[in-house]
Parts: sequence; structure tokens; C-alpha cells
Amino acid sequence: MRIMILGAPGAGKGTHCKRIVERYGVTHLSSGDILRRERAEGSELGRKAQSYMDSGALVPDELIVEMMSKAIGNAGDAGYVLDGFPRTVHQAEALGASLAENQNGLDTVINLKVDDDLVVERITGRRSCPKCGAVYHVKNMPPKEEGICDHDGAALVHRPDDTEDVVRNRLSTYYEQTKPVVDYYKAKGTVHDIDGNGDPDDVAALIFDKLDVLTRK
Ligand SMILES: [Zn+2]
Repeated sequence: MRIMILGAPGAGKGTHCKRIVERYGVTHLSSGDILRRERAEGSELGRKAQSYMDSGALVPDELIVEMMSKAIGNAGDAGYVLDGFPRTVHQAEALGASLAENQNGLDTVINLKVDDDLVVERITGRRSCPKCGAVYHVKNMPPKEEGICDHDGAALVHRPDDTEDVVRNRLSTYYEQTKPVVDYYKAKGTVHDIDGNGDPDDVAALIFDKLDVLTRK
């Protein structure tokens, strides 16, 4: 199974990638994680990326695509789910060329659609534990005691990026750069729009409906 999950920040891509991995045994390929890992390992690609980041520049598309292609090549036989990549049409085109070269094309694309206001509510309500990394939500997943981690009693923090202004900014970057990626794949006819507004279990069921078909091929 070779799939990609697209959606705005806060649409629930991470949550649903985890469920997809559990159900189908595919490898989760998150561009953020892969970039961090390459840098931590000090690989040639990682060192190149680091030098751009040190100079305050964005890591160029070609380098990101090379990293992701390498990770795709190393994914197990069960396949993979791409998360957070491609971010731009240019990256999508470069990925397509690389996948075609490796006879490793995509089976399908899942597009998680969530209302902007719900994304803002999800992200601004997030609280995380600086000690163990557990993530809570003031309304949807509150800790037993307000502001305190259930596991270790640490005071929960509201990350400075999780404010409405920052979220609305990230959403407009998404509409500008990444929404065209959805249209790019739609033109190829492989996109399933999934309503991501509901309960995570219901959303997962909608996604599994589309993906189970692939396992029966
Ligand atoms: Zn904790």
C-alpha cells in the first residue's frame, strides 16, 4: 500500500497516520521526522540540509525530495504512508518523477478536510507536558487535574506557536502552497476527500473504508 495523506495543519494527519500504520503495517514517512533523523545521523543529505538551516535558508525542494525518495525506497514491503509531504506542487512533480523512475507509484491520496474554525479550536486548546511529551486538550482531552500532567504531575504548557494568529497564518500558507497539491493529485484522479470534522474513530472508519479496498486487490 503506497499512500499519501494531505490536509491542513491540525486536520489530524498525525493521529490518522498512526491508526493507518497500526491497521496495515505500513511505514510512516513524515517529512519532519525524516529531516530530523538525517540531521541527527549526520548523513550526507542531513549535513547538506543542516548547512541551509544554519544559514537561515529553507531546505531546497530537491533535497527534501531526495530524502523522501530514499525513505520510500527503504520502506518495507507493506508499503508506506507519506505525511506532511509534498508541501508544494513543485515537490509533488519532483516526487512523481522520482517514483516513476523507481516503479513505485502512489496507490491513492487521502485528503482530510476540516473546517478552519475547528482547526483553530483544536490547536489553541492544546496543552503539552514538558516532561513526558503527553499532549492534552482543554476541552477534548483534559487532564484529570487542570493544568497538570496525569503521568508525572508536571505543569502543562501552552506552546507559543499554538495561538490563533499563528494557526491562521499557517492555514493561509496551506491554502496558498499546499491546497494546489490536492488539485494536482485530483487531476490525476486518485484523491479521496474525507470529512475530518467528526470524532476520530468515525473519521478513521471513513479512511479505512477507502484503504481496505486496496488490500483486497
Ligand atoms: Zn507528563
